[in-house]
Amino acid sequence: MEIRSDWNMRELNELCEMPLLKLITQASKIHANFHEMGKIQVCHLISIKTGGCREDCKYCAQSSFYKTNIKAQPMMPYEEVIENAKLAIAKGATRICLGAAWRGPRDNNPFENVLKMVSGVANLGVEVCCTLGFLTKAQAKRLKESGLYAYNHNLDSSEEFYKTIITTRSYQDRLKTLDIVEDAGLKVCCGGIIGMGETNEDRLELVRTLSNRSSHPSSVPINLLSPVQGTPLANRSPVSFVELVRIIAICRITMPRSMVRLSAGRKDLSLESQALCFLAGANSIFAGEKLLTVPNSSSSSDENLFKALGLEAMH
Ligand code: SF4
Repeated sequence: MEIRSDWNMRELNELCEMPLLKLITQASKIHANFHEMGKIQVCHLISIKTGGCREDCKYCAQSSFYKTNIKAQPMMPYEEVIENAKLAIAKGATRICLGAAWRGPRDNNPFENVLKMVSGVANLGVEVCCTLGFLTKAQAKRLKESGLYAYNHNLDSSEEFYKTIITTRSYQDRLKTLDIVEDAGLKVCCGGIIGMGETNEDRLELVRTLSNRSSHPSSVPINLLSPVQGTPLANRSPVSFVELVRIIAICRITMPRSMVRLSAGRKDLSLESQALCFLAGANSIFAGEKLLTVPNSSSSSDENLFKALGLEAMH
């Protein structure tokens, strides 16, 4: 099957308007061609530097622009990061993501610490991903040399909608960092959030941007907004899981090789809803009690999920 980088809005709208079960069936066939159905990569996210961020993302508990219950904390010590990573690996994680609430790293000691953490975690034999904000070419190169596998830098939504959610940086800045990451030989992890008040068109614009990159992001996290008290999006009503399934299926159809990760918001989904997401092409989850600052599914409910659906963790 041909991998395309020329999806247009007309085609994406057609997919979006398909009856849901027909869309899931089409996505499921593509999924089975490129991946093993039921094999799920388990990722674990460690917040190595929490809170006090200088960006104004309206959905985020860590932004210093809003009064949330997250206070700026010092960087997590190296030993604690390694300990957390080891525990997650023992529970089946094969990808460890290190997240810092930064606009971007500076060339200083904290960045040197991150490089040490990256190489320490990479030595445990797993994929290491980082999300640290903007990168310079030199920083991307040093991360790669330290053993980094992938870099996460989400586009969140369409360029138009993005402007209403974040004003401290632009979509174009974001795209520039994605190019820097790719040029450094790192895998790109880039996805979005649904439920922020965007339209279907905005979601499809995001898919168009991602699927029109000459090489698709190897990882596409799809998040459901977890409204955080104190942020401007605190009172957003939840979107129907049908919308989540639909966008996952469209990602799977347009980016057949990518890992589509069912990310934030999973704890509010029933086992049946998650099953549909896996059928529609999601093949990764984040495990752990927290996803940065928001609660995540518990280990016992994940064990139950794997058992009930006959899922297998990817090695
Ligand atoms: S999403 Fe990231 S960049 Fe935006 S405020 Fe939160 S920590 Fe900062």
